[in-house]
Amino acid sequence: MNEDAIIRKLRRHAPLIGDDCAVVPAPHGQDLLFTTDFSIEGVHFTQESRPEQIGRRAVARSLSDIAAMGGKPLYCLVSLALGRWTDRRWMNGFYRGVNQLLRETKTRLAGGDISHAPQLVCDVMLCGSVGSGKALRRSGAKVGDSIYVSGPLGGWRHKPEIVPRLDIGRKLIGKATSCMDISDGLALDLHRLSIASGVAAEIDSVPLLEGASLEQALHDGEDYELLYTAHPERRVPGIRIGTIRKGKPGMLRFRGKTLAPIGYDHFQ
Ligand SMILES: [Mg+2]
Repeated sequence: MNEDAIIRKLRRHAPLIGDDCAVVPAPHGQDLLFTTDFSIEGVHFTQESRPEQIGRRAVARSLSDIAAMGGKPLYCLVSLALGRWTDRRWMNGFYRGVNQLLRETKTRLAGGDISHAPQLVCDVMLCGSVGSGKALRRSGAKVGDSIYVSGPLGGWRHKPEIVPRLDIGRKLIGKATSCMDISDGLALDLHRLSIASGVAAEIDSVPLLEGASLEQALHDGEDYELLYTAHPERRVPGIRIGTIRKGKPGMLRFRGKTLAPIGYDHFQ
């Protein structure tokens, strides 16, 4: 299968593909959101992983970033560097997974690139939108705010599928004072949010996925739940886990003890 054949096939369901660039109208009164995520053989999946699952997961990770900003996903670009071992069946499965999740979330495939490399690399770029000036940022948490997560935690060992929390993200617009998604573990990501907001944070309790340990919920990556803060009297969805405190920015405490901001670090 050559590149033109692949593109012809993709175009059947994605009419935005075909020119040198996709052309779309600029949304009125909205800010645009852009995010991109790699999925790499040997890092995020292996040759034994199901291609549908690789495709779906690659898109889900970028969708989770759009959710974390309170946004609505619009367009997706998928670039692939194929490994020597990938065949037509793999490609079909991969795009089946991609298209399935794009359909479920009303996101349109707008292009991408295909090449070859010693190992398979996939890059998913997503564009979304949010009301002008309304995006949920990491930097707005205030002392006294309650801290929430959108669901129980436990890390990649206990989370076979990523469910991007797009509904919850949109419900938090105008309510949450800060928000991000948990990709590298609660402790490390809450540390990042606290630094961005110039505050400290105290966790009282952590909701656990079935079979997960507290250690895994605090420090393993790939939960992809939302982590957010709101004024304590605000009604927001999710599970309350603690309180924003005055203190050294990024300092974490868990049940009275200092909590190290350890999580998944791509450079270690
Ligand atoms: Mg993120």
